[in-house]
Amino acid sequence: MTTVFPAAAPATLAVRGSGVVFPVHRIYCVGRNYAAHTIEMGGDPDREDPFFFQKNPDNLVLGGADFPYPPKSSDVHHEIEMVVALHKGGSDIPLKAAMDCVYGYAVGLDMTRRDLQGACKQAGRPWEIGKAFEHSAPCSDLAPASEIGHPANGAIWLKVNGETRQTGDLNQMIWKVPEMISYLSGLFELRPGDLIMSGTPSGVGPVQRGDVLHGHVDGVGDLHTKVV
Ligand code: MN
Repeated sequence: MTTVFPAAAPATLAVRGSGVVFPVHRIYCVGRNYAAHTIEMGGDPDREDPFFFQKNPDNLVLGGADFPYPPKSSDVHHEIEMVVALHKGGSDIPLKAAMDCVYGYAVGLDMTRRDLQGACKQAGRPWEIGKAFEHSAPCSDLAPASEIGHPANGAIWLKVNGETRQTGDLNQMIWKVPEMISYLSGLFELRPGDLIMSGTPSGVGPVQRGDVLHGHVDGVGDLHTKVV
């Protein structure tokens, strides 16, 4: 097949301790999935239906590369999240089959132009300009579930310049991993290569150029990036 221009190579996550890579299909993100963060964003932490937005696979920042401060914002926030990587998909996946879809886990940052997201919320407009911009998804290498299991509790935290900014525990997720897979598969046909960013604990806040970010999820790994 002759393409009009050379097709871009798919984004891929390195799989820790192996020579293989994980090709990324879509990136889904769940909003307000930790009660303390829901409250800090002005929401009600009672168990409402989960909601989702997307980032683009080419928004990933890999291998500890720098995060370039994006244009048109003066309030870019960090959101540390556990990333769930799927190697199987489907529609209307029952809860009991959901974990069979999970290949592994990574540590990710849902970088957010909070000022633009806030304006979108106020105007009832979509969130893309606040969420799905270039370099908005720094992500660590992938840790296969075959090695680490399925972490359902353990610390998740983010330090900025060595100072702890966000802390939480995976057991504080309102919608657990199998629930978000099952629910999401009712809205979209999930595919091998899909990533789900599973929400952020409280303590989100702004970053500045020069900041060094270190994110961690117990049992999964670490993520490093510098704001430039
Ligand atoms: Mn988020």
